Amino acid sequence: MSSMSVFGKNAKGVSDIYCPQCSDTLLHREYENYSCMKCGFQSDYRGLQEMSRHGTALKMQRKIHPEPQPDGTVSQAVYVRPETWENLRRKHPENLMHTLSDVFDGLAANGVVITFDEDARKLRAMGINNGAQMVTAMETARMVEAERNQLISTLGLLKGSLDQFRAQG
Ligand SMILES: [Zn+2]
Repeated sequence: MSSMSVFGKNAKGVSDIYCPQCSDTLLHREYENYSCMKCGFQSDYRGLQEMSRHGTALKMQRKIHPEPQPDGTVSQAVYVRPETWENLRRKHPENLMHTLSDVFDGLAANGVVITFDEDARKLRAMGINNGAQMVTAMETARMVEAERNQLISTLGLLKGSLDQFRAQG
């Protein structure tokens, strides 16, 4: 992340701009209009340029190379909450399109298990962050259960033998 006090020559289109009011939130850009989802700040590109010229330091973040379109995909308009989109971009700065494409494929093929909020938090708290860990955890749980059942039946046999022994004695 770099901090600049003036707009670079090619700043437009290559940098994300942080909100000049809250400074930790990236401005959401729609065409020439910039807005902050957190404090409601709004400006167009020209307005930001003016602010910069008059001494407001605008923090920018160079955009990572645009991600190539995943093979065999088409562009579709989808509705998404702006704050969600910003979080997604932050979480997957280099592979968001491929990640979403995989999620869409999985959803369509019933190959996705979705956990929300509380369940997801519980899983994370148990150290489970992905599908492979989930499968391992379930397999381990089944194995432990099988071993437990084995032990219970062994104990049952032992108790039977003991009762028999006592009855004889
Ligand atoms: Zn703001």
